[in-house]
Amino acid sequence: MTIKFHVSNDLLLSYSSGTLDEASSLLVATHLALCPHCRARNALADSLGGHLLDSLDATPVSPDMIDVVLARVRNQASNGASRSGDRPRAVADAIIPEPLRTYLGGDIDELPWKRLAPRIQQISIATLDHRSRARLLRFQSDLKVPTHGHNGRELTLVLAGSLCDRDAVLLRGDIAETDERTEHQPHAGPGEDCICLAVTDAPLRFKSMFARLLQPLFGI
Ligand code: ZN
Ligand code: ZN
Repeated sequence: MTIKFHVSNDLLLSYSSGTLDEASSLLVATHLALCPHCRARNALADSLGGHLLDSLDATPVSPDMIDVVLARVRNQASNGASRSGDRPRAVADAIIPEPLRTYLGGDIDELPWKRLAPRIQQISIATLDHRSRARLLRFQSDLKVPTHGHNGRELTLVLAGSLCDRDAVLLRGDIAETDERTEHQPHAGPGEDCICLAVTDAPLRFKSMFARLLQPLFGI
């Protein structure tokens, strides 16, 4: 398995600096558990973050400077990932890796799934800071999510099956990130159920009247 869609630089830096909300941090940390490439990027962001903070008093950090730093992060990360090899076996064997598994209290077949809509099940994930919402979603194969826009950021991490989103096919470990400018209609691929972790910091904007009417019931 090769992960193609990674944590964005903005997200990784917010995570590394500790300013990211809890649900998004959970998603990033779960991606890191699956992705040696981003573990290396994160280690470097952690070490560079300290240097950046040290230099802030003396010299304002320009956007150009940030680009230079991020280019270094990317170079280092690709070197680090090629050295670090495959994932540990314990992580590879569980469908739901840590730290998400601790939040949920079990692996996929031990969870109290609730019906969200026909062919969609979910589990809401409690977080303490209430800045965003996390849910585990289970789409039956070939399910089309109703077309929607966003009032904020939406992060989706695929854990099983496949999800087709805007001409891309996301597999286990891949992340899709959308914002207010994006309207889309993701759909689950054929074969096994698609299981993904979704984090939103604002309600979605559904196009169809039917979906809008149901929205308050589901809190999405
Ligand atoms: Zn990654
Ligand atoms: Zn969306």
